[in-house]
Amino acid sequence: MKVPFLNLKAQYDAIAQEVEQSIKEVLGACAFSGGPYVERFEGEFAAFCGTSSAVGVSSGTEALWLTLAALGVKAGDEVITAPNSFIATAEAVSLTGAKPVFVDVEEGSFTMDPALLERAITPRTKAVIPVHLFGQTADMDPIIAIARKHGLAVVEDACQAHGAEYQGKRAGSLADAGCFSFYPGKNLGAYGEAGGVTTSDRQLADRIRMLRDHGQSRKYYHELVGTNGRMDGIQGAVLSVKLKHLPAWNDARRAHAIAYRHLLEGAASVKTPREMRYARHVYHVYAVRAPGRDRLIEALAASGIACGVHYPVPIHLQNAYASLGKLAGSFPVAERCAQEFVSLPMFPELAEEQIAFVAAELGRLAAAPSGAR
Ligand SMILES: *Cc1c(COP(=O)(O)O)cnc(C)c1O
Repeated sequence: MKVPFLNLKAQYDAIAQEVEQSIKEVLGACAFSGGPYVERFEGEFAAFCGTSSAVGVSSGTEALWLTLAALGVKAGDEVITAPNSFIATAEAVSLTGAKPVFVDVEEGSFTMDPALLERAITPRTKAVIPVHLFGQTADMDPIIAIARKHGLAVVEDACQAHGAEYQGKRAGSLADAGCFSFYPGKNLGAYGEAGGVTTSDRQLADRIRMLRDHGQSRKYYHELVGTNGRMDGIQGAVLSVKLKHLPAWNDARRAHAIAYRHLLEGAASVKTPREMRYARHVYHVYAVRAPGRDRLIEALAASGIACGVHYPVPIHLQNAYASLGKLAGSFPVAERCAQEFVSLPMFPELAEEQIAFVAAELGRLAAAPSGAR
């Protein structure tokens, strides 16, 4: 049986008519860059997240960068984040001229360990970016309490957490701002590149709106040095259509996660992900931990099962960040994750038989002595 890691085509087929109709409207209105379709989506997404504003931008990376810039983060500053994220989180910090500083993550949630946060704060620290990894939020209350005590801004990297909840509140509404990616493979994905920022701070929203449009207050009057970070009209329209389906898609992912967990209960060497007491996990990625990960992935591929690794190298050990001088051993939990995590196929349209097949193969291969794989 073939089990792909993702299947964007299955989802497109299910909503093709709605999507094509919405794209035709944008084409008819020639509302290509920003405009009414983006504004409509911004209103809908803010309501979904429980914030007063949302600002559509061109990617998740741009969302993070513009938010930090709007908060005044600049060269000479430090921003604290987690080392086991997609590199964009640290890149956004670097793009402002500031330095990324890492704090290791907790066993269990694999998100920023609040107990390690305070000792990473220096007089240069300006902001903290907890990453809601794989669809589960970081433990925000203690992180925000420490940040407030030191006068630091808190920005959620919610790029993997559309619809996730912390203590009953949606990701994106938990801190000063939430940054989302609508990259096609995310839980809410555009049909191209897109991102967004949610916030209930109207001044911050206005500043991000200005920065995404060359710092203009009105056409050709520039108050700030910004960039072109606008969202396409077509992406706004597609995202409006897809947002209506997101709750059902997230429910499907959660049901798949429960199925995987039950089916993998007997596989002693495979550790399945845990939903923390505070969280509603939306399983953007379903990552299990297993020793001999690389051989396991090869063997699963031979059975027709495509897996992923999120992420094979933590950010502090990437060549791009060699200048930070953080050696192996600096962040042991994040480094162990990089060695042991295997991301299993996870998307809403995954079939029950496919889940059963993946779990059976994984259980069999993980139990076999390494030579027999
Ligand atoms: C996807 C992702 C980003 C970047 O989003 P893009 O839209 O690809 O720029 C940032 N952080 C995390 C955790 C992500 O998963």
